[in-house]
Amino acid sequence: MNLSLEGKTYVVMGVANKRSIAWGIAQSLSQAGARLIFTYGGERMEKNVRTLADSLEQEHSLVYPCDITDDAEIEKTFQQIKDEVGTIHGLAHCIAFANKEELDGDYLNTTRDGFMLAHNISSYSLTAVAKVIRELDLMREGGSIVTMTYLGGEKVVKNYNVMGVAKASLDASVRYLANDFGKENIRVNAISAGPMRTLSAKGIGGFNEVIKEMEEKAPLRRPVTQEEVGDTALFLMSDMARGITGELIHVDGGYNKVGL
Ligand code: NAD
Repeated sequence: MNLSLEGKTYVVMGVANKRSIAWGIAQSLSQAGARLIFTYGGERMEKNVRTLADSLEQEHSLVYPCDITDDAEIEKTFQQIKDEVGTIHGLAHCIAFANKEELDGDYLNTTRDGFMLAHNISSYSLTAVAKVIRELDLMREGGSIVTMTYLGGEKVVKNYNVMGVAKASLDASVRYLANDFGKENIRVNAISAGPMRTLSAKGIGGFNEVIKEMEEKAPLRRPVTQEEVGDTALFLMSDMARGITGELIHVDGGYNKVGL
């Protein structure tokens, strides 16, 4: 057993730019020899994703639109992926969204629409994609699904609010999906990353304080990097992690273990 992904194909969802966690994952998987397929949410992202995909040493870039709120588009995209490659061996789901005004102040101010939006994009989307993978029998050789979560789903984190509640739902989905998929030798896990300066993180109130707190209180006394999260995803995608499913692995410099 080793970390090589030679001869295997993975779908990476959620690259917005070079700071995206999905891009960190893509680089780790690519360095391990994986063939990658990218999906992006919305036309604004297309150019960035194509440029980044072309920068990898791949035969030819496969890049498709996939608005995660649109079941027909999810089906169309994954059908195209099936037509192109036949089988995939893993999926990295790195997608989340909530209204900026609801990521500041009291959680109590969450609106019904804001609650539904955050849950739809940040949690249900994993299940929606998983369903299509099953329907199309896309992971028929077994596989690994990895999603991105955050401590705010387990504990109260200032300003994370409705996104924390959506992450709790995502974390629970990981366990249920792991159980549904286990008999097909498909594993489902989440990485709980420490705070990183990405496009999405910019929307969260007081984000600079969160990074400062990591530097002062995390056992490693520093924020984690995109590469560290990417390498953990590589481990989870590889056969080295063949006994791990339904798990949430913290890549946060140990921050979640500190009590005071
Ligand atoms: P990012 O902004 O680079 O990525 C978020 C992605 O979600 C973007 O590519 C965006 O296009 C996509 N997205 C939003 N709505 C979509 C839709 N309707 N359809 C398809 N795609 C859509 O930010 P990121 O920090 O890399 O976020 C990736 C994941 O990591 C998210 O789940 C986030 O919650 C999680 N995470 C981030 C941090 C952090 O501090 N940055 C920490 C822990 C977990």
